[in-house]
Amino acid sequence: MNILDEILEEIQYNNNVIDSRELQLALDLEVGAKEICIKNFESVCYEVNRNIQHVKNYFKKELSIHLTFVKSRGLVFKGKYALNYLKKILNNYLDQYVFCKKCKKHDTILSINGSLERISCNACNFITNYEKI
Ligand SMILES: [Zn+2]
Repeated sequence: MNILDEILEEIQYNNNVIDSRELQLALDLEVGAKEICIKNFESVCYEVNRNIQHVKNYFKKELSIHLTFVKSRGLVFKGKYALNYLKKILNNYLDQYVFCKKCKKHDTILSINGSLERISCNACNFITNYEKI
């Protein structure tokens, strides 16, 4: 490997890091007297290429409340939660289930096999295994 290759590799690596930071997802909330809707829940799931049910289950576990997904309204649940708190839950989900642990890209695939969940990275082929949520 010559010096130029090394520099190129370095640049590509840096690009990967920037790429993961570019995934800025905004939550579009509708806050009612008793209910909150994450109106763009479906498109957020689509954006990160994850199953609605899977992301919903994660929120359910973190908030310890009953949540409903209604296609026309989004993710609906009772209670009062700050936007930042819901964002934090989403970010934790992304860290655990979307971003590759090795290269930090979000070009990953989640596959579920029994009680095991596997995140495989399309960019570097790194695999992370979890017990099911
Ligand atoms: Zn990777």
